[in-house]
Amino acid sequence: MQLAPNVKGAVIVTTPQDVAVLDAVKAAKFIGKLELPVLGIIENMSGMVCPHCGKAVDLFGTGGGKKAADDLHVPFLGAIPLDPAMVRAGDEGRPFILLHSGSATWVAVNAVMESLVKIIER
Ligand SMILES: [Zn+2]
Repeated sequence: MQLAPNVKGAVIVTTPQDVAVLDAVKAAKFIGKLELPVLGIIENMSGMVCPHCGKAVDLFGTGGGKKAADDLHVPFLGAIPLDPAMVRAGDEGRPFILLHSGSATWVAVNAVMESLVKIIER
Protein backbone atom coordinates (compact mmCIF):
# COMPACT_ATOMS: atom_id res chain seq x y z
CA MET A 1 0.00 0.00 0.00
CA GLN A 2 2.85 2.37 0.85
CA LEU A 3 4.49 1.68 -2.52
CA ALA A 4 1.28 2.15 -4.51
CA PRO A 5 -0.21 5.53 -3.58
CA ASN A 6 -2.88 5.36 -6.33
CA VAL A 7 -4.66 2.35 -4.83
CA LYS A 8 -8.34 3.20 -4.34
CA GLY A 9 -9.62 -0.05 -2.93
CA ALA A 10 -8.91 -3.72 -2.37
CA VAL A 11 -10.33 -7.00 -3.59
CA ILE A 12 -9.94 -9.89 -1.18
CA VAL A 13 -9.57 -13.40 -2.56
CA THR A 14 -10.34 -16.27 -0.24
CA THR A 15 -10.87 -20.00 -0.52
CA PRO A 16 -14.00 -21.60 0.96
CA GLN A 17 -12.53 -23.12 4.15
CA ASP A 18 -13.30 -21.55 7.54
CA VAL A 19 -9.64 -20.82 8.29
CA ALA A 20 -9.23 -18.96 4.98
CA VAL A 21 -12.40 -16.99 5.65
CA LEU A 22 -10.96 -15.92 9.03
CA ASP A 23 -7.84 -14.65 7.23
CA ALA A 24 -10.02 -12.79 4.72
CA VAL A 25 -11.88 -11.06 7.55
CA LYS A 26 -8.53 -10.08 9.15
CA ALA A 27 -7.33 -8.71 5.81
CA ALA A 28 -10.52 -6.68 5.43
CA LYS A 29 -10.03 -5.16 8.91
CA PHE A 30 -6.42 -4.28 8.04
CA ILE A 31 -7.57 -2.62 4.80
CA GLY A 32 -10.15 -0.70 6.82
CA LYS A 33 -7.37 0.64 9.05
CA LEU A 34 -5.69 2.00 5.91
CA GLU A 35 -9.00 3.77 5.17
CA LEU A 36 -9.43 1.96 1.87
CA PRO A 37 -12.72 0.42 0.79
CA VAL A 38 -13.01 -3.33 0.28
CA LEU A 39 -14.49 -3.50 -3.22
CA GLY A 40 -15.52 -7.10 -2.78
CA ILE A 41 -14.61 -10.67 -2.02
CA ILE A 42 -13.92 -13.47 -4.50
CA GLU A 43 -14.09 -17.13 -3.56
CA ASN A 44 -11.33 -18.96 -5.41
CA MET A 45 -10.87 -22.76 -5.57
CA SER A 46 -14.62 -23.01 -5.16
CA GLY A 47 -15.04 -26.62 -6.12
CA MET A 48 -13.40 -28.10 -9.19
CA VAL A 49 -14.59 -28.96 -12.65
CA CYS A 50 -13.84 -32.69 -13.10
CA PRO A 51 -11.63 -33.08 -16.19
CA HIS A 52 -13.26 -36.46 -16.91
CA CYS A 53 -16.98 -35.74 -16.75
CA GLY A 54 -17.15 -31.95 -16.41
CA LYS A 55 -19.19 -32.10 -13.20
CA ALA A 56 -18.39 -29.92 -10.16
CA VAL A 57 -16.49 -31.58 -7.29
CA ASP A 58 -16.54 -29.81 -3.88
CA LEU A 59 -12.90 -30.10 -2.76
CA PHE A 60 -12.87 -27.42 -0.07
CA GLY A 61 -16.58 -26.78 0.30
CA THR A 62 -18.31 -23.68 -1.00
CA GLY A 63 -19.95 -20.61 0.46
CA GLY A 64 -17.09 -19.28 2.64
CA GLY A 65 -16.51 -16.25 0.43
CA LYS A 66 -20.19 -15.34 0.45
CA LYS A 67 -20.28 -15.74 4.23
CA ALA A 68 -17.24 -13.44 4.66
CA ALA A 69 -18.80 -10.85 2.33
CA ASP A 70 -22.07 -10.97 4.28
CA ASP A 71 -20.26 -10.69 7.64
CA LEU A 72 -18.27 -7.68 6.40
CA HIS A 73 -21.18 -6.07 4.51
CA VAL A 74 -19.15 -5.88 1.29
CA PRO A 75 -20.09 -7.17 -2.17
CA PHE A 76 -19.57 -10.83 -3.00
CA LEU A 77 -18.02 -10.78 -6.48
CA GLY A 78 -18.44 -14.48 -7.20
CA ALA A 79 -16.89 -17.92 -6.96
CA ILE A 80 -14.28 -19.38 -9.29
CA PRO A 81 -13.81 -23.16 -9.48
CA LEU A 82 -10.38 -24.78 -9.60
CA ASP A 83 -9.64 -25.90 -13.16
CA PRO A 84 -6.59 -27.88 -14.33
CA ALA A 85 -6.80 -26.04 -17.68
CA MET A 86 -6.33 -22.74 -15.82
CA VAL A 87 -3.27 -24.11 -14.01
CA ARG A 88 -1.74 -25.22 -17.34
CA ALA A 89 -2.50 -21.85 -18.97
CA GLY A 90 -0.72 -20.10 -16.06
CA ASP A 91 2.31 -22.37 -16.37
CA GLU A 92 2.43 -21.69 -20.11
CA GLY A 93 2.16 -17.96 -19.49
CA ARG A 94 -0.95 -17.76 -21.66
CA PRO A 95 -4.11 -15.99 -20.45
CA PHE A 96 -6.68 -18.65 -19.56
CA ILE A 97 -9.52 -16.32 -20.47
CA LEU A 98 -8.31 -16.18 -24.09
CA LEU A 99 -7.86 -19.95 -24.37
CA HIS A 100 -10.97 -21.41 -22.80
CA SER A 101 -13.89 -19.11 -23.49
CA GLY A 102 -17.12 -20.88 -22.67
CA SER A 103 -15.81 -23.27 -19.97
CA ALA A 104 -17.50 -23.16 -16.54
CA THR A 105 -14.39 -21.52 -15.06
CA TRP A 106 -14.26 -18.94 -17.85
CA VAL A 107 -17.93 -18.10 -17.25
CA ALA A 108 -17.21 -17.72 -13.51
CA VAL A 109 -14.14 -15.49 -14.08
CA ASN A 110 -16.11 -13.37 -16.53
CA ALA A 111 -18.99 -12.94 -14.03
CA VAL A 112 -16.55 -11.88 -11.29
CA MET A 113 -14.93 -9.32 -13.62
CA GLU A 114 -18.34 -7.96 -14.71
CA SER A 115 -19.33 -7.50 -11.04
CA LEU A 116 -16.05 -5.76 -10.26
CA VAL A 117 -16.28 -3.42 -13.25
CA LYS A 118 -19.80 -2.38 -12.21
CA ILE A 119 -18.60 -1.58 -8.68
CA ILE A 120 -15.60 0.41 -9.96
CA GLU A 121 -17.80 2.36 -12.39
CA ARG A 122 -20.02 3.40 -9.46
ZN1 LIG B 1 -15.91 -36.70 -12.97
